[in-house]
Amino acid sequence: MHPLLAADLHQLPALLATAQELSLDYLHSLPERPVALATGEPVLPTLPETGSGGEAALRQFWERFAPELGASAGPRFLGFVTGGSTPAALAADWLVSAIDQNLSNDGYSVVPNIERAALHLLRQLFGLPEAFAGVFVTGATQSNLVGLAVARQWAAAQAGHDVAQQGLYGLPPLPLLSGASHSSIYKVAAVLGLGRDQVQAVGQLPGREAIDPQALETVLRELNGRPAVVVANAGTVNSTDFDDLRALAALKEKYPFWLHVDAAFGGFAAVVPALADRVAGWEQADSITIDAHKWLNVPYDAAMLFTRHQALQADVFKNSAAYLGPLGERPDFVHLTPENSRRFRALPVYLSLLAYGRAGIADIVARNCAQAAVLGELIAASADFQLLAPVRLNVVCFTLAGPAPSTERIKQLLDRVRDSGEAFLTPTRYADTTGMRAAFSNWRTEAADVDRVWRALQAAADPR
Ligand SMILES: *Cc1c(COP(=O)(O)O)cnc(C)c1O
Repeated sequence: MHPLLAADLHQLPALLATAQELSLDYLHSLPERPVALATGEPVLPTLPETGSGGEAALRQFWERFAPELGASAGPRFLGFVTGGSTPAALAADWLVSAIDQNLSNDGYSVVPNIERAALHLLRQLFGLPEAFAGVFVTGATQSNLVGLAVARQWAAAQAGHDVAQQGLYGLPPLPLLSGASHSSIYKVAAVLGLGRDQVQAVGQLPGREAIDPQALETVLRELNGRPAVVVANAGTVNSTDFDDLRALAALKEKYPFWLHVDAAFGGFAAVVPALADRVAGWEQADSITIDAHKWLNVPYDAAMLFTRHQALQADVFKNSAAYLGPLGERPDFVHLTPENSRRFRALPVYLSLLAYGRAGIADIVARNCAQAAVLGELIAASADFQLLAPVRLNVVCFTLAGPAPSTERIKQLLDRVRDSGEAFLTPTRYADTTGMRAAFSNWRTEAADVDRVWRALQAAADPR
């Protein structure tokens, strides 16, 4: 063994204690550390011939870079939809690296069964029937990719074609119909060879981002029996609107389409009784995407794909090495996702759910929604800002009061907010207007944080 590795092995308790000390430094600083910082130029070091050992490397990294780590895991980072890590999830994630097992195949450890147990807990959390088989992937983009890859397999099978085996050659375009789909759907369409141009906007209900079911029916009717994929949204990123999944699912009686629900964060509505109606009908979907690293507040990266069609999923993702044998009723995870080797990312989810239970998760969701409502009321009543959309869940979508502001003006405003160190929000466009979003999804956010965000916004809108 190299002497530096031997020394580190000998000093492992001290090294891990240092990692704990630095982690706690960071975590304790979350409420006051600058919420976000502009990214500077990268520092590109020279590879040393002789290393400095774990302890020195860790300390040097921390001294050099800790001041430039924003507090995106903290309570006032409202950009994108960004969760944090609950204590149990963080502790579990440390264990994941210590255990360092490859969750691909059964037969040499219990870990695949912990993933199955985590998925079983999640089905209960979300009220999804047992018929939905699940897998963990890295994020909702990858989950959408898996869902639409299975949809593609299904659609081609309607014409007696096996895409996984034969490729897309000679097949007609497959329409991907959606109301206000997430940007990742275009990426997925590109990666899967379906084509970004096939993502087609379906008419929306007046003043809404939700699909107008009648407009969808018209499009489906005109397809004359050709298969399609409907990418339904359970929580759009701007106005957190939900498609009427019951109405969409009812159309499956009359038209052949795959119903994929992108519920990356909106799926958590199912956890709060007062909100659960938003996702009613999703139990009739063919596939469902839900992120864990957003509202479940586990560390990056983790999301789930649930589908009723696991056999089709395995047709797409099976890793057909000769030594693997038939798939059977309970396929190894290596046959279900784009990855072969996989991180044990199920453990933080598993332990979070056992640590906090349904009520603990529901409390995060309900409190974040209440915080968004409070900020929404402040904005609606202010002279500086106006809402662009009603606050339906955990996101406030708004802009400056008065005539529609330029993109540049919003960028300057948001840069001032960021540079105050008090909050971070991301720009957007909604209803042909440039604006911004404040998305609440962190377990640590409290009422006092909403006050601080609001003061930072007012100061940035009215700089003196
Ligand atoms: C965040 C999000 C995604 C993409 O998720 P990643 O985890 O960043 O890959 C997809 N759809 C919706 C609705 C989202 O909010």
